[in-house]
Amino acid sequence: MAASSSIDRRTVLDRDAILGHLTCQDPSGLFAAADRVRTQEHGDGVMIRGLLEISNHCNEQCLYCGLRAGNTSLQRFRMTREQIVTEAIAAARSGLETIILQAGEDWRFGPEVVAGIVAEIRKACDATITLSLGEFHRGAYALWRAAGADRYLLKFETSNQTLYSRLRPGRELRDRIACLATLKDLGYQVGSGNMVGLPGQTLGDLADDLLLMARLELDMAGIGPFIPHPRTPLADTMSPALIERNDRTAARACDLEDLTLRSVAIARLIMPGAHLPATTALGSLTSGAREKALKTGANVLMQDITPVALKSLYDIYPDRICRTESAAHCGSCMKNKIESVGRYVQSGHGDVRA
Ligand code: SAH
Ligand code: SF4
Repeated sequence: MAASSSIDRRTVLDRDAILGHLTCQDPSGLFAAADRVRTQEHGDGVMIRGLLEISNHCNEQCLYCGLRAGNTSLQRFRMTREQIVTEAIAAARSGLETIILQAGEDWRFGPEVVAGIVAEIRKACDATITLSLGEFHRGAYALWRAAGADRYLLKFETSNQTLYSRLRPGRELRDRIACLATLKDLGYQVGSGNMVGLPGQTLGDLADDLLLMARLELDMAGIGPFIPHPRTPLADTMSPALIERNDRTAARACDLEDLTLRSVAIARLIMPGAHLPATTALGSLTSGAREKALKTGANVLMQDITPVALKSLYDIYPDRICRTESAAHCGSCMKNKIESVGRYVQSGHGDVRA
């Protein structure tokens, strides 16, 4: 968890101050402050995490996501255990020191199967293993931790419980938060986060999201824009947070970029020691947005290491970047991006500093 020394150093912002930062005319002061804190806390190194998308099967019906069970037009895939282990080890040998295994909530990846995969990767290399497989019971999380998983990524998506249950039918925010507490208790480094621009989400909700991230003392917070998927019930929607700021639909992408960057910058001020990725969703929204995020508090990039033939089937949101490029191409592209903003690729596992 975020170290207590970081908590002591964090800027305390109340809800009104956060709302002020989300709505002020000129965010340049906020961005500069976030960049300063990022430099002090993390230096100029940027960590690259390898993201392996192991299955696009999902039992859930999240209204925002293209992998939802109700999207019957999606061709589904599930990597084999051998494929997963081989790809993860290859990525680790290519220099990626953290490998994230992510999937929809796929009942075929039950506790024992995942534990076997984690143990096999752990035996073959010393990469840090992050899992992002959704909500499970304590026994499963404990088994995976014992098998060698170090971190878990489970975004709470929105801190507004009513909105949460509307967007995730049959699910409750408190259960998600309970999972995060369980993971923390089991000794995982825990990542969570939100989506910015969800239909039904207000600026007040966004402020509450940031406050919740700080309260949860996250090791990592993923803050990404919501990008409507045409094969979901939210295909043609727009959030009140964006309407409050700007009611011209054509301005949605740049306004959403701005709102996401401000959220990242505020997160950096209130969680100085946390890892904050410049998310792939942000880079998919507008080109160059990830580089901007690296200058407004972010210190991590995600590299999609899923085999090229499968990448485009992991269709969470449309027009995701880097879907057709090989891992080798993505690796050098990431390095160029990082160097283009005067930073360097940071080696090491990137545990949150004590
Ligand atoms: N099934 C797991 C992990 C896969 S989903 C889970 O739900 O936790 C990974 C992330 O994709 C989600 O946490 C959500 O924040 C993001 N996501 C889903 N649909 C999205 C969309 N339309 N736009 C942007 N991000 C989306
Ligand atoms: Fe499934 Fe996760 Fe998408 Fe929800 S967000 S539909 S749980 S993959």
